Amino acid sequence: MTLDEIRALIRTVPDFPKENIMFRDITPVLRNPAALRAVIEHLADCCRDDKVDVVVGIESRGFMFAVPLALALGAGFVPVRKLGKLPAEVVQAEYALEYGTNTVEMHRDAIQPGDRVIIVDDLIATGGTAGAAIDLVEQLGGEICRLLFLVELAGLKGREGLQGYEVHSLITF
Ligand code: AMP
Repeated sequence: MTLDEIRALIRTVPDFPKENIMFRDITPVLRNPAALRAVIEHLADCCRDDKVDVVVGIESRGFMFAVPLALALGAGFVPVRKLGKLPAEVVQAEYALEYGTNTVEMHRDAIQPGDRVIIVDDLIATGGTAGAAIDLVEQLGGEICRLLFLVELAGLKGREGLQGYEVHSLITF
């Protein structure tokens, strides 16, 4: 399945979760067997030469792509979770929201110094969440090969805040 065909499956829901947000709903892509397979193959093709040890997925829609990608690459999977969800010792990173801040966590023993890491989420908007995930990986000495997204909201210029990193998205709105 082509990227244009996958793009056509993404459902745009206006004013969700609040007014003036165009929500890009990827659940129809997950529901379509050919699209689901193709997304993982396209993501894997981006990083075949990266010699990845760990695929980091960002809660919660990032998990849906990060786990099958880890399987496809022969890598392990590590979750980035919201504050207070992980049971063992964690590292934390805070990032700015429109109003206030948010904190994400990763298990301290999830990444070893020198591990080659890919960070995956369903969508990049402002890039704040991805920046926090980078912070967590780097606190633990991981080496970030690239960041992968199914969807990029280009107008929000999220990649401008991630300069110095390889940022790859399959579909742009
Ligand atoms: P950001 O930190 O601004 O890059 O936001 C990225 C996170 O918010 C991702 O985990 C997305 O799932 C979610 N997100 C932000 N904006 C949208 C949108 N318009 N449609 C769907 N998900 C979004």
